[in-house]
Amino acid sequence: MSAARIDGKAFAAGLRERVAAGVRAFEPATGRKPGLAVVLVGDDPASQVYVRAKGKATLEAGMASFEHRLPDSTRQAELIDLVQSLDADETVDGILVQLPLPGRIDEAAVIAAIDPAKDVDGFTTENAGRLAVGGAAMVPCTPLGCLMLLKDRLGDLTGLEAVVIGRSNIVGKPMAQLLLRENCTVTIAHSRTRDLPAVTRRADIVVAAVGRPEMVKGDWLKPGATVIDVGINRLPKADGGTRLVGDVDYVSASEVAGAITPVPGGVGPMTIAVLLRNTLVAAHRRAGLPPPERL
Ligand code: NAD
Repeated sequence: MSAARIDGKAFAAGLRERVAAGVRAFEPATGRKPGLAVVLVGDDPASQVYVRAKGKATLEAGMASFEHRLPDSTRQAELIDLVQSLDADETVDGILVQLPLPGRIDEAAVIAAIDPAKDVDGFTTENAGRLAVGGAAMVPCTPLGCLMLLKDRLGDLTGLEAVVIGRSNIVGKPMAQLLLRENCTVTIAHSRTRDLPAVTRRADIVVAAVGRPEMVKGDWLKPGATVIDVGINRLPKADGGTRLVGDVDYVSASEVAGAITPVPGGVGPMTIAVLLRNTLVAAHRRAGLPPPERL
């Protein structure tokens, strides 16, 4: 069997167009553009790349982009002051604090300072709680993007067995909540799970969010399973460069799975597209308008 390739890049491009259309309708209704503020502390090279990409995508969607780059020496209290000033700023609909923060800053304290209505990453306890108990949560971008790809591929997910590998607050746990909301039977596997291949083999849907290159092999999968690979791992190449691989061994998995996301070009492009989507939704809610239906 040769698995179908789930084209996250194409899906994300479509979502970004729908967001841009929503932005064009928002402006005449409210007299302003939706705005996203991104805060970066320090000079971590990967974070700089992400922040640049987010700013560019925000402008391309027709939104206002506010970038705050702070030195590595920034104190926690200063950072929290900035977040609180963004909370109070009427032109800002979404606030994203790029993680990881320098080690001496308490990430939880900074996230707790974000107004839940502007928490477009869905990382506050308020939004995690709303996702768990039901209600209008801001949902973390990466797992929401994974769910969109799954529903696009499979339609109704009711009754399907889903195994999420990884239990982080950013990906694994919200992914499991989303799948539960779609009526899947959900297992969360993690580093202490016994016989992970046997657990994974039960699944109609596998979401791998581990951070271990090519860990999930083809013989861990049920034939025909749908596989979403969240992992982004850099492996050294013989010529001294690096290549990106996921948490799934794409070659062996493709022989067994029904459909699979590639790395790159699968989940990655969805994260930024959903960030823009969440910002547009936040802008509508703050303006007392219903968000566009088909996002
Ligand atoms: P994390 O390190 O916070 O969590 C990893 C999880 O994997 C943990 O819950 C741990 O229990 C589990 N784990 C570790 N070793 C394991 C093993 N041997 N067997 C089973 N489970 C194991 O990571 P994260 O933030 O959730 O990210 C996971 C991966 O997804 C990383 O590669 C990250 O780069 C990638 N990621 C991609 C995007 C994207 O936009 N595509 C966004 C976020 C994260």
